[in-house]
Amino acid sequence: MAYNAKDNRYEMMKYRRCGKSGLNLPEISLGLWQNFGGVDRYETGCETVLTAFDSGVNHFDLANNYGPPPGSAEIAFGRMLKDHLMPYRDELIISTKAGYRMWPGPYGEWGSRKYLIASLDASLKRMGLDYVDIFYSHRPDPDTPIEETMGALADIVRQGKALYVGISSYSAKDSTTAISTLRSLGVPCLIHQPAYSMLNRWIEDGLLDVLEKEGAGCICFSPLAQGLLTGRYLDGTIPEGSRASTNEFFRPSITPEILVTLNALNDVAKARGTTLSVLAILWILRDKRNTSVLIGASSSAQLKENLTAVSQPPLTAEELSKVEAILKK
Ligand code: NDP
Repeated sequence: MAYNAKDNRYEMMKYRRCGKSGLNLPEISLGLWQNFGGVDRYETGCETVLTAFDSGVNHFDLANNYGPPPGSAEIAFGRMLKDHLMPYRDELIISTKAGYRMWPGPYGEWGSRKYLIASLDASLKRMGLDYVDIFYSHRPDPDTPIEETMGALADIVRQGKALYVGISSYSAKDSTTAISTLRSLGVPCLIHQPAYSMLNRWIEDGLLDVLEKEGAGCICFSPLAQGLLTGRYLDGTIPEGSRASTNEFFRPSITPEILVTLNALNDVAKARGTTLSVLAILWILRDKRNTSVLIGASSSAQLKENLTAVSQPPLTAEELSKVEAILKK
């Protein structure tokens, strides 16, 4: 059936300015790392994406390697664009990245000009796009000169293949170098995409200060710690089909100790009449330097629950100190 976006789609979402740029991003963005690959049900992913767009989530985050198999999330998203969202292209912020292994041989990963430019060309083909809104260097490359990686990003902007560029998972020190190198090439660094959640607070140790000083935004990935900071695992069982049930690397993070922490945090959420995932999102939004919270979702029901964060009042000082005390234990 033909899709018509809801007329009221911009009424619920709030938008934050991305650093010192002209771009506003939704407080909640949707990532397609998992649940949107060739192994996943297309219709479920499509429903989630359209529910997002109907709720004002106009930013969708991809990467060359998202799937599985690698590339298949971009193919699925390209199909969603073609089937439904292309008439709304000017309302969308679509990002992709390159940095991890995508094809065999010496040019299939990291940060060379050879890899980044070829990878973006392939991403554009898979999605059926002329340009993406944001293109990221997905990870710092210790062996490629930063001038080469940032030079490729700047050229990509000049070629019109990306409107803005960003970096992901760069340390505070590497970010300073990358941002100033880009600036010297006449291209601002729009945004950094680091991991950040109540269970992973590394960006508080310098990176956020660097981004604020440099005028770059921050979009936080895995804000729900891949599902730990939701109702998914609170009773210690691993539901069929959950990420922990299918991902052997993630499963060991569910320990008796973490369950104690999660349940204590859940009590704080319950006391304000909400859920743990909403608490986790509100906690990130407490800092205005965090432009957007980049969640994943395996169903539109999960997404809808998480989106209720936007209409809630901010966490109080008392709630924040309760959270702090739990995380310090
Ligand atoms: P989250 O921490 O938000 O975890 C998402 C998962 O949590 C969902 O797939 C689902 O897991 C579970 N979940 C979400 N909401 C609920 C809910 N309300 N109730 C119960 N379970 C819920 O983020 P991701 O780890 O998925 O990462 C988000 C995005 O960040 C990615 O898609 C990608 O765009 C980006 N990213 C970037 C990286 C980088 O290197 N730059 C690395 C990793 C991610 P389940 O499947 O069990 O239902």
